Parts: sequence; structure tokens; C-alpha cells
Amino acid sequence: MSQVSQYDVAVIGAGPAGMTAALYTARANLKTVMIERLSAGGQLATTDTIENYPGFAQGIGGMEVSFAMLEQAQRFGAELKLAEVTAMELARNTKRIITTDGTVEAPCVILATGTRPRLLHVPGEDRLRGRGVSYCAVCDGAFYRDKEVAVVGGGDSAVEEAVYLTRFARKVYLLVRRDQLRATPVVQAKILDHPQVKIRWNTVVEEILGENKVEALRLFNRASKETEELPIAGVFIYVGLIPNNEAWQGQVQQDELGYVLADNEMRTNLPGVLVAGDVRSKSLRQVATAVGDGAIAGVTASQYLDSLKQEG
Ligand code: NAP
Repeated sequence: MSQVSQYDVAVIGAGPAGMTAALYTARANLKTVMIERLSAGGQLATTDTIENYPGFAQGIGGMEVSFAMLEQAQRFGAELKLAEVTAMELARNTKRIITTDGTVEAPCVILATGTRPRLLHVPGEDRLRGRGVSYCAVCDGAFYRDKEVAVVGGGDSAVEEAVYLTRFARKVYLLVRRDQLRATPVVQAKILDHPQVKIRWNTVVEEILGENKVEALRLFNRASKETEELPIAGVFIYVGLIPNNEAWQGQVQQDELGYVLADNEMRTNLPGVLVAGDVRSKSLRQVATAVGDGAIAGVTASQYLDSLKQEG
């Protein structure tokens, strides 16, 4: 029989939202575990520098601030369990989380699993993943020193990462499917006149080409209707995010895009099940808002557990 561990609060995901929620519950003397499948930090840990998190006037490294958040939560007693969640039973009073490393039971669960990159879904993407197809410039950018690379997308992520890649790559093509960027003006300003970046407007990727590694892209221009082959050594895909919501499908109410619905106190439709961070249905996904969600969820968790004690 698999081992069962009991906690007051189980936080699913150890990104900024999950680590903040755990900091608050652990500091309120609640036995807290963060269950994380990769390593603490989430998408923040793969961000080179974060410029819009208050308190760091010159910006701060994503990895550095992630480690600090983890250390802070652990200082108050929160535990980190590295395991994949395979199933959840959330409609019970004592919620059960089945992981690849035993079962966790807790009366309160905070969903903070964040998002993951959306795939482009073109031929060659799967086959050449890790061989020139990347979703993380900070992880893989240094492989492309003095080479030419492409970034797909027109949002804040695509623009920020394209600028980051100019540290290594000789030239960066930004492939934008419309005739304008979705990125916010302050982010756009970093790229529009960048000497190493060439923006290709109205351009979609039809296929990623290469024998054993990426060698070129087959592009289609939606305005001119022309197709061309663009030789590049790597392609970085930043075409949006999808919520990591598979573990609780059918149990928790979500919006039409699959993000979890919650009230202002981060309560979902199920008693004792809270949500925080990018996986929540909301308008602004930033580290600052993730941390805010986490703090509220942590306090709501404490109040919920107090109310259970009073009832019991
Ligand atoms: P996003 O804002 O959803 O942008 C996705 C981009 O990819 C859009 O330009 C979209 O084009 C394009 N796209 C989608 N599907 C495509 C396809 N099949 N082929 C080509 N292009 C495609 O996603 P994001 O940039 O990852 O940002 C996610 C969230 O994080 C946003 O809220 C963003 O503001 C935030 N963020 C903020 C910062 C910052 O504050 N510095 C940094 C990174 C991320 P269309 O415009 O035509 O739809």
C-alpha cells in the first residue's frame, strides 16, 4: 500500500503563487506541503530578469528570486515534495492527492499549477523538439551564439525573449502572424528598432525543416501569399499559454479557456479548494499578481481551517 501523508494544507505547484500561499499558511503554523513536479520557481525560474516586480529597482534574476521565495517558505516550515500529481479527489472533506511518490491528504488544497507553453502544432515541431525547437530562451539561448534564430509569436513573451536572444544570436527573426504585435507598448519599444531583430509581419510557420536538427522554416506570408524557406539554426516558440488543469478535470469549475474560476478570496466552487496564480481565471498574469493571489489564498486557507475547527 502506498504511503499516505497528512497535512493541513497541500499546495499544488511551487511557482510564485504556490510558494507565497505556502509561506502564509506555514507562517500561520499550518502543516503545509508544496507538491511540484519539476523544481521550485515555475516559469519565473526560467525568466532571465524580471523588471516589474516591485522592490528590485534594477530588476532581479528569475532564478534568484525563485530561490529566495522557496527559502522563505521553507524557513517557516513549508515542505517541498517533488512528485507528479496523477489524480485528485477534491469533493471530499479530506482531499486526496495521489502522486508518483505516495498520497497526500489535507482538508485544504490550493491549486497553483500555472500554465505551460502552447505548442505551434506544425510538422517538424515534435520531431525536432530539443534539437533546435525550444520553448525557453533562457534555457537554450546560449547554444545559438553567432547564429540566426527565429522567435514565433507577437505577445510580451515572444518580444522579451527575442530581445534576450540578441545577447547570443547574430540575428533574430520575429515571426508575427498579424500586422501588429500583441505585446504591451513598453515591451514593444524594446524591439521595434532593434538592430539585430528583423520582424516578419503577416507570417506563419508552415513547417519546421531539418534532418536531425532545425535547419530552416517554411514560412507563408498571409498578405503576399508567398511561401519561402528561411534558414535558421533554432526556433523559439512563444504563442501563448495553456493552463495546467488536467489533474482536477471535471471537479472544479473553469472558464471557457480552462482557467479556474474563483471569488475574490480565491475560493473555487468546492469547499476547501482554493486557486492562485496564472491558472486562475483573471486578466493579468504577472509575478506580482501571482504573489497577491497566493497571499489571499494562504489567508483564506487559514480562515477555512479555523471554521472547520469551530464546526468540529
Ligand atoms: P499571449 O499574450 O497570449 O500572446 C500570444 C502571441 O502568440 C500573440 O501574438 C498571438 O498572436 C501569437 N500566436 C498565437 N497562436 C499562434 C500561432 N499558431 N502562430 C503564430 N502566432 C500565434 O502570450 P504570452 O506572450 O506568452 O503572454 C502570456 C501572458 O503573460 C500575457 O498576459 C502577458 O502579458 C504576460 N507576460 C508579461 C510579461 C511582462 O510583463 N514583461 C512578459 C511575458 C509574459 P495574435 O496576437 O494574433 O493572437
